[in-house]
Amino acid sequence: GLLRDGEPTPTVFEETTARALRHDAVNLGQGFPDADGPAALLSLAADVVLAGPHQYAPGSGRADLREAVAADRARRHGVHEDPATQVLATTGATEAIAAVVLALVSPGDEVVTVEPFYDSHAATIALAGARHVTVPVHAPDFLPDPAVVAAALTDRTRLLILNTPHNPSGAVYPRALLEEIVAACAARGVLLLSDEVYEHLVYDGEHVTLRSVAGAEDIALTTSSAGKSFAVTGWKVGWLTGPADLVAAVRGVKQFLTYSSGPAYQQAVAAFLPDAEPHLAEQRERYRTSRDALVAGLRGVGLDPVVPAAGYFTVVDLAPWGVADAAQAARDWPREAGVAGIPVSALCRPDGGHLRSWLRLAFCKSPAEIDRAVERLGAHA
Ligand code: GLN
Repeated sequence: GLLRDGEPTPTVFEETTARALRHDAVNLGQGFPDADGPAALLSLAADVVLAGPHQYAPGSGRADLREAVAADRARRHGVHEDPATQVLATTGATEAIAAVVLALVSPGDEVVTVEPFYDSHAATIALAGARHVTVPVHAPDFLPDPAVVAAALTDRTRLLILNTPHNPSGAVYPRALLEEIVAACAARGVLLLSDEVYEHLVYDGEHVTLRSVAGAEDIALTTSSAGKSFAVTGWKVGWLTGPADLVAAVRGVKQFLTYSSGPAYQQAVAAFLPDAEPHLAEQRERYRTSRDALVAGLRGVGLDPVVPAAGYFTVVDLAPWGVADAAQAARDWPREAGVAGIPVSALCRPDGGHLRSWLRLAFCKSPAEIDRAVERLGAHA
């Protein structure tokens, strides 16, 4: 439910951060970087904040941001989207996801996600009164079997939500897999939404945007954001791209969610995007170092974490430590071990799914934080 004891039920991320703060634990739970975005971006924002604009941006977002997003996607992926009709600025990818689901899905429809799924995917499906159908993915690769995806689609399926790179596993979907999934959806008249907020944090392999896949052009939407790419998660500057008719339908809902937001931040991101690559490359190297340190540290304490190809997180089975329920460990560890993580079951169906003993740990942190976490886990082991 959305309420608990008359208060909004906190998300697992918010709850974990609160618990980490209470016990002064190293917070490898909620995915946010412990260093703010590049100085060049922050100083652009400072200039814009002093100069304005501070009044409403258009409902679809500032034209300069929509143009910068379209240019960036053309340059990197060869995908050509009309900034006027096929790009919508949103209040983070979170709003894009909610607006897409509320715009396109009717009560009683079925929406398919890959489990573990991001919490807002499940919550917005519930808000739309739709039925949530899941396709489970497993270690070691956490990629869906396209035959299982196809079998999950029915006459009532309206939308399939993908997330590549995948939170929590870091899996990067190869083009051939996306092609098979798109073909299955096209055959059934199912629309797709791809949540690609970790697109710039790929350490091994290459990100393929869903909209560059053959057959996706008229049926697939993609969302991404500045928050994850540029380490400014609080700015909530996101965007959605897709076929003009679907983007228009989503805009119809979005105008009653936030109308528009953060014109100054939108302008700063628009100005930064064309020159972002050197910063992104440097950030990737930093996170790769932290990823490798966390993976090596966990191996050193007798665990066998997934080496994530992308993103902020690794997932690890706690069974070798005799832990059957990682949700219990996530509740106890901040106090007992001084480390906080997210139980993967919180990103699964209420029965805990098939990953009950798995924990998600974030590595978008300084090497010192990672070392501190590993040391504490070693002492707790
Ligand atoms: N995307 C972040 C994560 O997966 C959480 C963002 C939030 O707390 N809403 O940890």
